[in-house]
Amino acid sequence: MSSPFEIKGWCPGALRPMESGDGFVVRVRPHAGTLTAAEAAAIATGARLYGNGLIDLTSRANVQLRGISEATHRPLIEHLAAAGLIDGDVALETRRNIVVTPFGTGEVRAQTLAIAASLEAALASAPSLPGKFGFAIDTAERRVLALTSADIRIERDGWGGLIVRADGAPTGRSVTVEDAAEIALRLARWFVDSGGVSEGRGRMARHLKRGAQIDRALSGSVEPAAAQPPSQPGGVREGLLVGAEFGQVRAETLEALARRCSALRVTPWRMLLLVDAVNPLGIADLMTVPDDPRLRVTACTGAPGCPQALAPVRDLARSLAPFVPVNAHLHVTGCAKGCAMPGAAPFTLLATPHAFSLILNGSAQAEPVRTDLAGDEIAANPSLVFEPA
Ligand code: SF4
Repeated sequence: MSSPFEIKGWCPGALRPMESGDGFVVRVRPHAGTLTAAEAAAIATGARLYGNGLIDLTSRANVQLRGISEATHRPLIEHLAAAGLIDGDVALETRRNIVVTPFGTGEVRAQTLAIAASLEAALASAPSLPGKFGFAIDTAERRVLALTSADIRIERDGWGGLIVRADGAPTGRSVTVEDAAEIALRLARWFVDSGGVSEGRGRMARHLKRGAQIDRALSGSVEPAAAQPPSQPGGVREGLLVGAEFGQVRAETLEALARRCSALRVTPWRMLLLVDAVNPLGIADLMTVPDDPRLRVTACTGAPGCPQALAPVRDLARSLAPFVPVNAHLHVTGCAKGCAMPGAAPFTLLATPHAFSLILNGSAQAEPVRTDLAGDEIAANPSLVFEPA
């Protein structure tokens, strides 16, 4: 059966942008997940001069500039390259699919940065990997990337040591700071050589589920440290975590942040960790406390920004946020692809050609309990969603 929405199987980059309803999307992959204040300011200026001024924070801890045109793409790339944010070619940019923990201080952070730098360098000679194949470096004091998509994970074990673990395997092999990247690359090569890639696609967990047995030299019996829940906005040891409504910031907001901290670490939870910042900063479109109701809603780009969207979704999600029960979550999606939240949510509103469908405790592709809810009707009476008959 063909899918009702388009699955691209690759992620946009800066050199290979993806077309969207509001122009091209240009994705920048910060080295080690960190932007210096100068780099953040350059991205903000680029978004303002060459795009529509909107910047997405992605679930891969990247930033993407929206509304780029064919005419402005080249000057934008030159502008970002001058700030050191552009890879030498598309292949390298595509392979550099690494999520790095935003946490860690002192020696622990230094180890994380050393592993990230080694892995980036090693990826230059990596085999051709599927577009979505990625690495997670989860080597701070707490393991926080367990729910972040990745195929090869470099993590702490329960005693502070390091392991490399294939996603989907319960245990991994002990490594050191010095050889972690090399072992991770050997695991990637094993994945390719053992038939993990089919028609340019493939993920590690699926490969293992189909029965692939990892080489003994690359597998091990060391368990990772206990996984911690995703972080919430507020003060942390490293500075201040701030959330962005629907994971999007305006260029002016990013410029203001760049003036107020020494560096920004981009997280996969669509938040920024402002290094050494302590105050909420007074910027209205940021979420700085864990009980901000906007944290209980997720919405994709929707119409008109996404050509596949069947309706606008963000205004509806914003209006419903105060009514989402505590400890619940609402996902409003412009089509069944469910990009903003691939997993299940307690409440999902799915745009259809004529109305919204309501799905309870399922993903955007699950069976709805209602298919006839008009957007204005829901906004006027949120109990239709949160107290369905
Ligand atoms: S889920 Fe949203 S952003 Fe993704 S393709 Fe559908 S409408 Fe577009």
